[in-house]
Amino acid sequence: MLGYKDYLDELNKKTENTYPLVNPHSKSEIRQIPECTNEQMEDAILDAQEGFQKMKNLTSYKRSQILERVSEIVTDNKQLFAETISLESGKPIKFATGEVARTIETLKFSAIEARKLEGESIRLDAAPNGQGRDAYTIHQPIGVIGAITPFNFPLNLVVHKVGPAVAAGNSIIVKPAEKTPLSAILLMEAFIEAGLPKQAYIVITGDGPRLGKVLLNSELVKKITFTGSPTVGKLIKSQAGLKKVTLELGNNSALYVDKSQKDKLETIANQAVIGGFSYNGQVCISTQRIYLHEDIKEEFIQHFKDRVEKLVYGDPLDENTDLSGLIDEKSQSRILEWINEAQQAGAEVITGGSPKENTIVPTVLLNVPQQAKVSCEEIFGPVVIINTVKNGEEALKEMNNSQYGLNAGVFTSDLSQALTFGHELDVGQVLINDVPTLRFDHMPYGGRKNSGYGHEGVKYAIKEMTNLKMISLNHKF
Ligand code: NAD
Repeated sequence: MLGYKDYLDELNKKTENTYPLVNPHSKSEIRQIPECTNEQMEDAILDAQEGFQKMKNLTSYKRSQILERVSEIVTDNKQLFAETISLESGKPIKFATGEVARTIETLKFSAIEARKLEGESIRLDAAPNGQGRDAYTIHQPIGVIGAITPFNFPLNLVVHKVGPAVAAGNSIIVKPAEKTPLSAILLMEAFIEAGLPKQAYIVITGDGPRLGKVLLNSELVKKITFTGSPTVGKLIKSQAGLKKVTLELGNNSALYVDKSQKDKLETIANQAVIGGFSYNGQVCISTQRIYLHEDIKEEFIQHFKDRVEKLVYGDPLDENTDLSGLIDEKSQSRILEWINEAQQAGAEVITGGSPKENTIVPTVLLNVPQQAKVSCEEIFGPVVIINTVKNGEEALKEMNNSQYGLNAGVFTSDLSQALTFGHELDVGQVLINDVPTLRFDHMPYGGRKNSGYGHEGVKYAIKEMTNLKMISLNHKF
């Protein structure tokens, strides 16, 4: 039986300090969580070093089998995982169930990639004096990895680090978000049940800045993989020295809808509403900025507004719920301030704009100046802004006028325009005829500018969790 209670009790044996874990929607206390000490993190690093030695005895086949088995265990416990995500993050159950389904896929992709970690042969005789040598590369695991994860996908974004780490033969310590530690522990239980050596995946709960520093200061930790806000990401990179680092950070995702889409506006509007308001917009690739060709403005906005106003607010565990409480009061007041600032700067509120219990009524703003925070910062809440443009060139310019560069979407039937956006958008992933709020778990996924450094997506994450080595055989010697 999977559960998090025993593990939390075990952590509590070594620390007296705890903090309350609160359901963001109901505000009721779920339970007390251990505030682990620096010594606990240091011990975890030593344990993980032993775990790494044990991982060395596992063949690719065995690691693949373990990952496959974890995907089965998560499948068998879908409901438990979905309810745990929903409980700690306040995510509506339909999105939490979707996150579990994606987790299963991420694990399966990890199981596949564990068997495919291949190098290449190198023609050393292509260099002068290189004759007589056969050379090839191998990818070797790097050792202990420190993973620091955010609150918004407490399961799948942990799997995006643990799956590739295990596939490559590493051990990993996860420091989950303070607000959502339970899913990471359940997942750890699933890995242990599947046969992973106990010390190969360890969860340490508590304060990010303090425990993160212990990971960063340790010589034994060879890589930090971080998903979270740009501010923390930059700080981590500045403290990481020569450790490998992957940073998956925020965005203010933009979407362009071209006039060639006249017949499809209702469908696009519906997709964009899902893109902008799923999990209250607390998604790194939430559809935040929409640029409409001026010819389709009225009709698109009408469809968009109608759909937004039908979104259902309520209990996250209710299957009909689209929107629930935001993660905390700080987010709520920040978002309201930003809406207010945009209004002062001339933006028009098409719908929403006011608080509702622990959240904001889903909000759509029109004609927002670029320098307003709802446009140039990551809103991370249920707010979408709409601006009109005269043509694709103007849209491209506006979309690129951002400190971020993760995903962007474009709806167009004009092939030349699609290719221009594909090549010219300064982002990591361009989605033609899709909203930017789209990620498949095996695709390369990484940001430019303030959106990140390095890539995830199982195959790509694995490459960043291994050391490349070349071996040359001089057969003429
Ligand atoms: P956050 O940066 O506040 O926290 C993320 C993690 O970092 C937590 O575990 C926290 O404890 C830890 N942390 C905080 N300060 C730290 C420090 N000084 N040193 C080390 N660790 C520290 O982010 P959040 O509010 O949990 O998540 C929201 C952010 O995450 C948004 O910006 C969102 O866009 C981003 N995000 C990005 C992706 C992606 O794949 N690009 C996915 C999800 C979320």
